[in-house]
Amino acid sequence: MFPPAGHDHDACAVDTLARAEATCRAQGLTLSPGRRRVLEALARSHAPVGAYDLIEQLAAEGPRPAPITVYRALSFLTENGLAHRIERLNAFVACAGHHDAARPLVFLICDRCGQVGEVAADEVGIDLERTCAPAGFRPRSAALEILGVCRHCANTPEPSHAD
Ligand SMILES: [Zn+2]
Ligand SMILES: [Zn+2]
Ligand SMILES: [Zn+2]
Repeated sequence: MFPPAGHDHDACAVDTLARAEATCRAQGLTLSPGRRRVLEALARSHAPVGAYDLIEQLAAEGPRPAPITVYRALSFLTENGLAHRIERLNAFVACAGHHDAARPLVFLICDRCGQVGEVAADEVGIDLERTCAPAGFRPRSAALEILGVCRHCANTPEPSHAD
């Protein structure tokens, strides 16, 4: 739900890539080297990365990708549920769960450590169709973004800026 503090993130990133590969295989999608490279970069942390920063990050460690190929890779990944766009941050995270692309999600955004957790809306009792029904509104792109403080940050004193 929310990445636990101190978890083995290397293993977590390996899982994320393995899940993406399995999804692509099952759905006849191609995780090309370019798409994979973008997903690997996103999977490095649970903090969303903006497209511009992502391009700079990739350029720092290999051939500088053409921005259009990165944007296309991001659309492929988000359209297929392998990564998510966090609207309010205008940034992307690798999918940390296993769900089909259309499933409504709730993103928990910690405004101290910048990490994002995801949970399927129906798993936490949120039925978006029903929530919107009294207003005669049909939800289409359904993702809730909730800002707050994760458990780890809540239990950690705020850093002082004395020095
Ligand atoms: Zn992790
Ligand atoms: Zn996901
Ligand atoms: Zn936090």
